[in-house]
Amino acid sequence: MTDDVSKKISVGPSGKFDGSGLSVKKRTTKNILLATALENFYGAAEEMGLDEGLVEILSHAERAISVSLPITMDDGSIRVFEGYRVQHSTALGPAKGGLRFHPDVSLEECEALASLMTWKCSLAGIPYGGGKGGISCDPLELSSNEKERLTRTFAARIAPIVGEWEDVPAPDVNTGAPEMVWFMDTVSKLRGRFEPGIVTGKPISIWGSKGRTAATGLGVATCIKELLNAVKLDVNKSRIIIQGFGNVGSYAAKFMSEAGAKIVGISDVTGGYYAPDGIDVAKAFDHISNHPKKMLEGFSQAGLKHVSGEEILEAEADVLAPCALEGAVNASNAAKLKVKYIVEGANGPVTPEADEALLSNGIKVVPDFLANSGGVIGSYFEWVQNLAGYFWTEEEYNNRLVPIMKDNFHRVWNYAATQDVVMRRAAFLVAIKRVADAVKMRGLFL
Ligand code: NAD
Repeated sequence: MTDDVSKKISVGPSGKFDGSGLSVKKRTTKNILLATALENFYGAAEEMGLDEGLVEILSHAERAISVSLPITMDDGSIRVFEGYRVQHSTALGPAKGGLRFHPDVSLEECEALASLMTWKCSLAGIPYGGGKGGISCDPLELSSNEKERLTRTFAARIAPIVGEWEDVPAPDVNTGAPEMVWFMDTVSKLRGRFEPGIVTGKPISIWGSKGRTAATGLGVATCIKELLNAVKLDVNKSRIIIQGFGNVGSYAAKFMSEAGAKIVGISDVTGGYYAPDGIDVAKAFDHISNHPKKMLEGFSQAGLKHVSGEEILEAEADVLAPCALEGAVNASNAAKLKVKYIVEGANGPVTPEADEALLSNGIKVVPDFLANSGGVIGSYFEWVQNLAGYFWTEEEYNNRLVPIMKDNFHRVWNYAATQDVVMRRAAFLVAIKRVADAVKMRGLFL
């Protein structure tokens, strides 16, 4: 799953602006995710002195649609599911964002997540707006054939509003390459022409991209390296902890270890693995590749201690990269952390309460929508290759990703320093400004 965003959204402790200084009529909603997204946006808009007309425009989605999805189930009965697609902004380019299958999916949740995609794509410096969609369903109760019929019916229903220059869905919670292929195939058949650029996250054999699997971890590692450079800490002397050894964490560990850093701790659902003299990351990587459930369970090496997942978070190191789930660093453990820096590989791993505690303990946080944006930049690369009909090598892909990540890191780092705000806040302000400028330049339709 990619392009996902957390339910715990924080734009960083600012303490000064909550939007109460704006005179616009603020939108209210009972949906917590959308309410938080709006609250964060109003606060940031006030802080940056955003023109109130722009506040009104950007606090609304451009387009939000609901569709009904009648499906023949495997037992021959008919069920109707609800599906949604929201395009929050297309000021910078086509809407981009995931398609999730989950019982909690609603139009308002999609709107909140679409707005976060607008800011994420803007910050990443890629030519996309933000979108999100999904189907309210429990994918565990559905067979593969039922999921295929659901995806194809959804694709047909929203076909009029998607396209490589309109809106480009991607995998998200509980969707992956098969759903993207069904979606692309359905729209291609409806239009009578091949439409590979209509979704990203396709398998390499069907117009997907080399390099995508490692992209998010490579982006996280690039942010850690740039951070170490910025604070003048030699990467060869740095000690790193990576929580979560799945797609993002294992590649972040691999790239950091290859750069000369000492990875002193890693963890996954089977617990923590701590080695003060450094984990043999290549060996751990091989271990999960050969494990039937891709887990660290049973991993061993000289000097390694098996500890709990919580102990790994609280161990001594320079940098902690939480790359597992949301809420890993929270009110109950934030004050116990011994690292100097946190680089958020996962979405929302630091809760808003923890943010406050980390700030008062002088721990700097590189926020998720900067640190894990290698994923969405990688999706953009797939789209670029699809439009050109010409494919890059993995080396070309990585060589293009790293400079973009470096530029984005420094843009936020420098803005945070000059404005005297935390990086999370700086990232949000930089992102909103780019979209607001585009809306202003393009003007209103009438
Ligand atoms: P994944 O399923 O491949 O890996 C998750 C890892 O976290 C697994 O190793 C799992 O065992 C571990 N884990 C789960 N609970 C844990 C716990 N309590 N303690 C320690 N480890 C635990 O998922 P992923 O694709 O690597 O995604 C990780 C995070 O990064 C998610 O928040 C996801 O939304 C975000 N993200 C992923 C991408 C991407 O391209 N994969 C892009 C952007 C953001």
